[in-house]
Amino acid sequence: MHQMPQSPTYDDVQGAAARIAPYAHRTPVLRSRLIDERLGTQVVFKCENFQRMGAFKFRGAFNALSRFTPEQRRAGVVAYSSGNHAQAVALSAQLLGIPATIVMPHDAPAAKVAATKAYGGQVVAYDRYTEDREEIGRALAAERGLTLIPPYDHPQVIAGQGTAAKELFEEAGDLDALFVPLGGGGLLSGSALSAKALSPNCEVYGVEPEAGAKGERSVRQGSVVRIDTPKTIADGAQTQALGAYTFDVIRRDVTGFHTASDAELVKAMRDFATFMKIVVEPTGCLGLAAVRDLAGRLRGQRVGVIISGGNVDLDRFASLLAS
Ligand SMILES: *Cc1c(COP(=O)(O)O)cnc(C)c1O
Repeated sequence: MHQMPQSPTYDDVQGAAARIAPYAHRTPVLRSRLIDERLGTQVVFKCENFQRMGAFKFRGAFNALSRFTPEQRRAGVVAYSSGNHAQAVALSAQLLGIPATIVMPHDAPAAKVAATKAYGGQVVAYDRYTEDREEIGRALAAERGLTLIPPYDHPQVIAGQGTAAKELFEEAGDLDALFVPLGGGGLLSGSALSAKALSPNCEVYGVEPEAGAKGERSVRQGSVVRIDTPKTIADGAQTQALGAYTFDVIRRDVTGFHTASDAELVKAMRDFATFMKIVVEPTGCLGLAAVRDLAGRLRGQRVGVIISGGNVDLDRFASLLAS
């Protein structure tokens, strides 16, 4: 039996920051005078829509892959994802010269499959209605000696994701509150580690789709709650459960939770396009949607929002704004 790796700490975030620095973008921290005026709150945005491959997931994937032993590098990595994690692993593997196998549903958007292949990833298709991707991933790992990198429940993935908030606090200073999109909790737990270390009085909130608030329920119940896949436009947060590592950190270091409906996400998406001229994918809008909803309570405060990604097909973007 392998020993379970230790729960990640802020030291791991600092290590990750040093490892990813030559490869990841230090994304901009932006503000909007008009958004501040409308909300009566000073909002600083960490713009991971400008990260390599268009989302923060590059940070965690690159950090985890850069820790491979020479044998692990030779054998290769496997990941299962239909979304940003697939592209993050494929790009990181390409940069590090590691062969990557990505398990994707055969009906995944053609653009995502193409992007993953363009980064040199070998795509293995499965049927999402009859097959279990985790099982396929584990079988490939066992047969071919590949190392499986999960999208969030991994100490080095969490540590990598925490580097976005680390950069935000270094640039913006102390904040009263930080709002973070929540799927499986890699981004939220990493952000909480950085907040604790760099701005200890900052309240940290996870923002989930209204259709599936498993984070809030898990912490209230004191154990990981599994829900049905939530129906929401926030496809990066259609997660059924937190992981063991992410739950541990979230339960200890996160102040609370908030939810956003699809309609609220579209309003935030429109604000980003209108006031900041940026394209943000629906999941990336969770933080601003919460701040809009809580504006009365946050009046006069200084709050951070992590914009987690910008990967949305422009036709879909247009039709969401038109709806
Ligand atoms: C994966 C993802 C999330 C959720 O991150 P977790 O670490 O799973 O909580 C949020 N936004 C975007 C754009 C993502 O790709």
